[in-house]
Amino acid sequence: MRFEAYPGRGPRVYLETYGCQMNVADSELVTAVLRRAGYVSADRPDDADVILLNTCAIREHAEERVLGRLSYLYRYKSARPEVRLGLLGCMAQHNRAALVEKAWYLDLVAGPDAYRRLPEMIGAAGFDPQVDVRLDRAETYADIPAAHAEGVRAYVTAMRGCDKFCAFCVVPYVRGRERSVPPNAIMREISDLAARGVREVMLLGQTVNAYHFDEVDFGALLRKIARIDGIARIRFTSPHPSDMTDSLIDAMATEPKVQPYVHLPLQSGSDRILKAMERGYTVDEYLALVAKLRRAIPSLAMSTDIIVGFHGEDDCDFRATLDVMSKVRYDGAYTFKYSLRENTRAFKLGDTVSEDEKQRRLGEVIALQEETSLARNLALIGQTFPVLVEGPARRGEGMLAGKTPQFKTAAFPASEGIGAGDIVDARVISATGHSLTCTRA
Ligand code: SAM
Ligand code: SF4
Repeated sequence: MRFEAYPGRGPRVYLETYGCQMNVADSELVTAVLRRAGYVSADRPDDADVILLNTCAIREHAEERVLGRLSYLYRYKSARPEVRLGLLGCMAQHNRAALVEKAWYLDLVAGPDAYRRLPEMIGAAGFDPQVDVRLDRAETYADIPAAHAEGVRAYVTAMRGCDKFCAFCVVPYVRGRERSVPPNAIMREISDLAARGVREVMLLGQTVNAYHFDEVDFGALLRKIARIDGIARIRFTSPHPSDMTDSLIDAMATEPKVQPYVHLPLQSGSDRILKAMERGYTVDEYLALVAKLRRAIPSLAMSTDIIVGFHGEDDCDFRATLDVMSKVRYDGAYTFKYSLRENTRAFKLGDTVSEDEKQRRLGEVIALQEETSLARNLALIGQTFPVLVEGPARRGEGMLAGKTPQFKTAAFPASEGIGAGDIVDARVISATGHSLTCTRA
């Protein structure tokens, strides 16, 4: 590819990201790979030489959104045929052949293990689309420091892929088998972040607590990171209930930098459905884990993922999910209608719950969670929390916002000398289900 339109500097890349936090981290990696090769970032597609979409395949809806966006972005390529248009990530992996057929104008399609080759692929794109969706059991990109966004919090990939093969989920097929980033690479990356003023790291992985590298398990990794000066807070997402080891719970309970918040996906509150989902735990085991975590870490906040309308879920199974939600009383929940995904083990079983019924169940789950989130937050009124300030609050003039240790958004009046990166004590004076309003304590 020639970039004569912009003499004197590298080609410009516009990158849009869809999906989970792992994809956001992958986009930071892609940016690093391309910068090394001389590319510069563009803020808008209008003046980009290369337009890339980093995509998600977890639900059909996510894929449809990307296809819609892609056909919109095609207009830039029609206007300027030298523009290269590419699709990256999980959807590239999931849909390869169908994609090139549906979006025939794509110049490149790169799966999550092909990012090292991107400069080469972009360079070679022209007559035929460049497609690389090979999965690589060893690729961790450990030697490429990500181009992290500015901010007090940074997202650091600790492991990639997943070996769990839950019946509903495409992740193991699109992101490949589980592999952990060597601890020394993680430590180096976080030390560099700390030197740049980052105060909080969020370790990422599809089953982040399955992390293991030689003798280092996830609990040991957290303890190592806690020794890095400048890093005040350590978080991680998403852990799998089956990998919640004593070593990890102990690190959470005794290492002050590891924050008292856990996202513990339940998916369903019915043993029958959990078994069909091949989740690897029963409701009793899950509840025993919740109790153990709360015993070990009394200030723990907890969120979850719920899927409604999985194959065979009847009203009784659904009520069981509501029942577990009422017992646990989560601080928050991500709720999804089951989406049948090709290649997964449950695909051949098909859908048994109508779209309307899924929607109705989703509405009930959301209503219950909103009620619980509000009640839990109202109960915090009068309490004081150390808030790591991130910057001005979204909703109002003169307010700063940040997170409590429990990962709740807290806003309080700005004052001289307080800014991003500071940790200040704030007392809750009012609350909604989604945030806390505070005064300085
Ligand atoms: N690894 C994490 C775990 O085991 O819970 C979750 C990762 S997944 C990217 C995020 C969430 O998407 C899952 O917890 C699940 O609730 C939801 N999800 C995955 N596949 C789905 C599907 N086919 N339909 C609806 N929701 C799905
Ligand atoms: Fe998907 Fe299950 Fe792996 Fe989570 S643990 S990424 S839900 S297969």
